[in-house]
Amino acid sequence: MNLVIQPGMTYYRISNLFNIPLQQLINANPYTDPNMLRIGQVVNIPHYDVQEYQIQQGDTLWIISQRFQIPIERILAANPVDPYQLRVGDGILLPIRIDEAVLSFDQPYTFSKLEEDLFLLVNTFPFITLREIGRSVMNKPIYEVSIGEGDKHVHINGSFHANESITTSVIMRFLHDYLVSLSSNEPIRGVDMNTFYNEVTLSLVPMVNPDGVDLLNEGLPEEEEFRDLVLTINNQSTNFNNWKANIRGVDLNNQYPANWEIESNRKRQQPAPRDYPGPSPLSEPEAIAMANLVEEKDFDRVLAFHTQGEVIYWGYEGLEPPEAQTIVEEYSRVSGYVPIRYVDSHAGFKDWFIQEYRRPGYTVELGRGTNPLPFSQFNEIYEESLGIFLSNLTV
Ligand SMILES: [Zn+2]
Repeated sequence: MNLVIQPGMTYYRISNLFNIPLQQLINANPYTDPNMLRIGQVVNIPHYDVQEYQIQQGDTLWIISQRFQIPIERILAANPVDPYQLRVGDGILLPIRIDEAVLSFDQPYTFSKLEEDLFLLVNTFPFITLREIGRSVMNKPIYEVSIGEGDKHVHINGSFHANESITTSVIMRFLHDYLVSLSSNEPIRGVDMNTFYNEVTLSLVPMVNPDGVDLLNEGLPEEEEFRDLVLTINNQSTNFNNWKANIRGVDLNNQYPANWEIESNRKRQQPAPRDYPGPSPLSEPEAIAMANLVEEKDFDRVLAFHTQGEVIYWGYEGLEPPEAQTIVEEYSRVSGYVPIRYVDSHAGFKDWFIQEYRRPGYTVELGRGTNPLPFSQFNEIYEESLGIFLSNLTV
């Protein structure tokens, strides 16, 4: 909600009045000077809605405060008129903390639903940053959300693979629960999220491959050019359950310059639903966007969420640093997932990250079953991965 600044108001006072941590309040208003609020200026209060109320016969501020469970001071802050001169029929504004869930998780994400939810989150919790880091082959934005103030920079992505879009839901649910927890000062599993906010800067790309995810969750694209292409690659079948690639049949997690030639020689030689590394490393816009993001942000660690297997791959060619093991052991302890150091595989996002930066990089295989995992597993998978999210604070 928007609050009009009245005489004597400071961010510190607003933070107390609305029970919103000071830092989130300041970050929600990046274009204001936190030490110089001007009277009449409008500031954004995260996680509040405003409701108009018409004064009725017999109302006092105290009665209204009791009825709506809002402290009188908070009502006064939202009403620049003198609320002691209440007249029947006058409207006043009631700041209401949003207490129901902002998002719901009852079906797999499509790109447009993701975009809608991200806009809703940034509107409700304006201390997060949402931006586009590139576009897919079909020109859909690839979004990154950044949140936090910490020195530890952690990146997590999902849906590199089209038929693994449950990973997008897992990341979005964590983001949602984290934001609600931050704004209401409620810990998650005993972990204080304000500490997390102050120590970890989190970068999330919930959907690396929007065209592929939409193919799985919405079916054939409307654009004829892509319809024809996809049907040719898929042998005229409209069952895309086996489809991992982007819309032109390149496996985005085989695109990185980390022994790409090995995969190129032994895998598919032409566009396919999975396992075609492309005509050259980083030929696809989605893979390029992710590489550029990593180069720009200089992350301390990255996690790529995939399905399935309940395992965590954490090494590459002996180039991983010693702390990669300490971290993966904690991930394993909290999730029950099994750490696997080496596997005969190259050209993946985490392989390239470890090779280029010699920092911890992980491929986390969520859940167990046949891809695409049924959405009925979502709650269980979320609970398993929540510990991994949270332990990025402690290790
Ligand atoms: Zn995968």
